This record gives sequence, structure tokens and C-alpha cells, in this order.
Amino acid sequence: RFCRTFRVNPWLARMLIVFATSGGGVLAFSDVKSENGMTFDSSEADSKKKKVVVLGTGWAGISFLKNLKNPSYDVQVISPRNYFAFTPLLPSVTCGTVEPRSIAEPVRNIVRKKNVNIHYWEAECFKIDAENKKIYCRSHIAGNLNEKEEIVVDYDYLVIAIGARANTFNIPGVAENCHFLKELEDAQKIRRTVIDCFERASLPNLSDDERKRILHFVVVGGGPTGVEFAAELHDYVNEDLVRLYPKVKEAVKITLLEATDHILNMFDKRITAFAEEKFQRDGIDVKTGAMVVKVSEKEISTKEVKDGGGISTMPYGMVVWSTGIGTHPVIMDFMKQIGQGNRRALATDEWLRVEGCDSIYALGDCSTINQRRVMEDIWVIFRKADKDNSGTLTIKEFQEVLDDLCERYPQVALYLKNKHMRTLVDLLKDSKGDAVKESVEVNLEEFKSALSQVDSQMKNLPATAQVAAQQGSYLADCFNRMEECERNPEGPLRFRGEGRHRFRPFRYKHLGQFAPLGGEQTAAQLPGDWVSIGHSTQWLWYSVYASKLVSWRTRALVISDWTRRFIFGRDSSGI
Ligand code: FAD
Repeated sequence: RFCRTFRVNPWLARMLIVFATSGGGVLAFSDVKSENGMTFDSSEADSKKKKVVVLGTGWAGISFLKNLKNPSYDVQVISPRNYFAFTPLLPSVTCGTVEPRSIAEPVRNIVRKKNVNIHYWEAECFKIDAENKKIYCRSHIAGNLNEKEEIVVDYDYLVIAIGARANTFNIPGVAENCHFLKELEDAQKIRRTVIDCFERASLPNLSDDERKRILHFVVVGGGPTGVEFAAELHDYVNEDLVRLYPKVKEAVKITLLEATDHILNMFDKRITAFAEEKFQRDGIDVKTGAMVVKVSEKEISTKEVKDGGGISTMPYGMVVWSTGIGTHPVIMDFMKQIGQGNRRALATDEWLRVEGCDSIYALGDCSTINQRRVMEDIWVIFRKADKDNSGTLTIKEFQEVLDDLCERYPQVALYLKNKHMRTLVDLLKDSKGDAVKESVEVNLEEFKSALSQVDSQMKNLPATAQVAAQQGSYLADCFNRMEECERNPEGPLRFRGEGRHRFRPFRYKHLGQFAPLGGEQTAAQLPGDWVSIGHSTQWLWYSVYASKLVSWRTRALVISDWTRRFIFGRDSSGI
């Protein structure tokens, strides 16, 4: 178009462009952009670039890609999902508060803006061969002729960020009869099923019992996702659906099942109490201490955890299963290969390197930092502090080592200091039968047994988007400064061997957690155990989530969805 408008010879223009982009005369075709925005790099220099393969385009994978700035890598991203989904708004999609496309951002849109070579392939990894540094993938795109064909990709560095899948605990009937809430497709399916239930219940010639069964919505799991979905469904029914289906409104029932004593038990007690009271007022039937043992096509059976464990059965129209996360088969297979077969998630050290593997990193829900290993390391550090080999440290020395640990293992050390220093001191005091004073020496053998008790109380990092995103950006930062830190290591002293670690260990910063409770009310637990509940917190929730969306496009779409919902209510067309 430029050539036509300005009457320039197209061949001359092409030659000028090639000359200008080749850095002054050397003809090289590098960074050729294809029509679909994918960047192919065919320059010779690329073969010398280290190949980084990233599995997964969720919170951890995308945060890694967004923060990777070092152009000296050739990055290949493999995921069966060619978009990033903003999971905290999935419950809002189930009831049409937010449209599915508003919370999805195409991967190619995210990586196209970067000056790093990033290729994306829509495929699923089914095998990791750590010994030969290869991964095996398959494409499931409908109509793909090579659907059965394997794609083999080799890597120099592998970043595993494939998240987790819903955990059914192998309870009979769960996989076949329940809805899950992990992916956008799940949320869309739930939305359609809710409307189907209302339409079916409105048909003539149904008995009252059958109508009640169809409109009985059961949510299993009283964690943040289950609670948010139950609240969202309650609002949907009471603010929108009862107006459209007035004849069946009396038959609607929402039940929330939780196996422990309280819902939202990872939150402050004030939030738990507020949520339970609110749900009771709203008519949501919260059954705690009820463990699901079987789900058939029309009935769900629960067992009382306490009082002898009687089994009761109730009819339902739809069950949403939200009881935590399980491991992907490819991760289970890989863990068996590397001797981690008895674990739930891939164990990494505090630098996110998979234990027992070379150049493999794992982030997000599919991984966990191995606390036992960290505890063993802490034990070695304490033994090293005992320079005269007497088997004892003074309390002052003991505390100095603990302070040192803050740099090496910030998470564990802070945990020990804040939560368990008291326990440790108490345990030592008990074992000595005397108050611990500055002069009293700490017997390291006694400390070891105290440490093992702390170990059993240590919790893993929560499986949240916050952790996954922070891990992704931490790892990208390590990759950005790989060469520089090779020359000038900045991490703590190595205690197995000489010198320093290249990088500081991963440090998680908790920014707080929200629990939307419906009726424009939200509970928030912010750092420093600061609790806020109510309508004003709902506005904080709106602003935080709007700001956390990955692009201006999704931000604009979500805000317009919220505005549409305020003005016209939620859509109930069941599309
Ligand atoms: P994911 O985000 O699940 O991404 C995994 C990626 O791997 C996906 O792209 C997937 O397609 C891909 N993948 C899967 N299998 C393969 C394979 N074999 N090969 C290649 N790629 C593969 N956390 C919060 O902090 N705050 C919240 O408010 C919050 N709300 C939530 C609400 C819901 C309904 C849900 C389900 C979760 C919520 N979470 C929240 C948790 C949060 O979404 C997860 O902790 C986070 O998604 C984990 O990130 P991840 O990158 O490890 O995995």
C-alpha cells in the first residue's frame, strides 16, 4: 500500500528494508514475523541460543513469559490452552456476571509484544524424559491429521507450570456425575446446566418432589472457591432467576457440604463466623462434618465425620465439586521416574529446581518446596555453627544462626521465628526442666528433635495464583540475570561446597486473600492479619481484580460486564 501510494518500486523498498534491518549490509533473515503473529527465528545465531521449554500457560507460565526479558534464549511454550484464564473470576462466569471471553487473553497476544523469541504450540505434554532432556507432546486440535503423532521437543532448560487437576479422591461417581470448576469450559458448562435445571423444573407434569430434586444445587467443598460459587449462585437465583421463573422459586435449594467443622477454615475465625451466619440468613444450607462417599446420577451420599458416621442420601439436580487439587498423570509419571513417586506434587528446592534433576524447574500448583529437605539443610547449618563440636550452642549463637537462616531460607526461618520460636524454646525448656537464659546452652540433639516437631507442623505454600505468579516472575528474573549472576553470585553461602549460590532463594510475599460472600459483600484477610468484611471490601475486591487482569482489553471487558450486570442483571439465555 505504501509503494502504491508513494509510487515507489516495491523491489527497491524491500531491498532498503532488508538493508536497514540487517544492521548495515549483512543479509540475514532473522525474526521473521508470520501472519498469525508468531515469531520464527531462523538466524544462525539461534542454534547457539539456550532452548527454554515452558509447559503451561496459566498463572505461573504466563508470569514467567511476561517477565522474561533476556533475548539470549529461544523459548518454546507448549500448552493445550492457547489463552490465559483469570481464574479468580471463574465463579463469576458460572452465573453470567462476567462473560468467558472477558477473562481470557490469547497467549499469542501476550508473547507478541516481547523482544524475546517465543514460539507457541497448542499441544499437551504427556511424557518428560529428564535423562535425554526431551519432552513428548500430542496435539488435540479437532480435525488434526496428526492427532496420534508425537511431537518430540528437546530443551536446555525445562519450566514445568502445568498446574493441577480437580481431586476426586477416587470417590465413586464423582468424575461421572459432578461438575468441576477449574477451566473456562467448566464454568460455561455450569452456567448452561443451571439454566437447564430451571427450564426442566418449569416443564408441566412434574411431581413436586422431582421439581425439588432438579432445583437442588449441591456444592461440595467449603474452601474459597466453593463458598464463592455458592454465594454467586444464590445471588443469581434471587436477583435474576426468580423473576423469570416465579412458579418454581419455592423449590430452589442450595446446599454446601464441608467435611471439616467450618467453612473457610484457612481464614481468620471472624471471617468463618461471618460467612456461616450470612449463609444461614440467606437460606444456604451449610452442612459441616459431612464427607461425600458416593455420587450417583440423581443422589449424593454423605457420611457424618463425627458420631458414628451415619450415611445419609439426598437427591440433587446439579453437583459442583470443589474440594482441592490433584496431580496431573504426566507429573505422576515423572515423579516416579525421579524417585518422588510417594509425593503429591513435584518437590523443588527454594530456587524452584526440581530435586534430583538437572535444569528442570517447577512452579505453581504442580510443585511444592520440599520443607523436609529444607529442615535437613537447617540441621546441617546448625551443626556447622557448632565449631568446637561440643554438641551445644549458646542461646545467643543459636539465635544468630536463626537470623542467618532468614537470608538462606526466608520462609522457613521467618516461620520458625514468628510462629515456632516459642514452641522451640518451650520444648527446650521442658527438656531441661529450667528456664532458658542467655547463658544456657542449646543441646543440638534436643534441638533436632524439636525441629522434627516443627517440621510436621510446617505447611506448604498455598496453591494460589499469587504464589504461582510470584514464582513465575522470580524465575524469569533468575533467567534474565543468569550470566551476570554466574560471574557475581548474589545468593547465600553454600553449605555443601564452597562459594555462594547464584541467586537468592524464592521469597513469597503474601498480599492477602479475598472471600466474596455474595450480596455485594466480601471478606478480606490482609497482611498482618488485618480483617475487613462488608460492602466496602467488595469495592476493594472490584478494584484489586480489575487491576490484576492481564491486559487493558480484558480489564475493559470485565468492567463493562460488571456495569452491564448492575444495569440489566445477569443473562439467563443458557447459551
Ligand atoms: P494453571 O493456572 O492451572 O495453569 C496450568 C496450565 O498448564 C494451563 O495453561 C493448562 O492448559 C496447562 N497444562 C495442563 N496440562 C498440561 C500438559 N500436559 N502439557 C502442557 N500444558 C498443560 N488463586 C488466588 O490466588 N486467588 C483467587 O481468588 C483464586 N481463585 C480461584 C478460583 C477458581 C475457580 C480456581 C479454580 C482457582 C482459583 N485460584 C485462586 C487458584 C489459582 O487459579 C491457581 O493456584 C493457579 O491457577 C495456579 O497456577 P498454575 O500456573 O500453577 O496453573
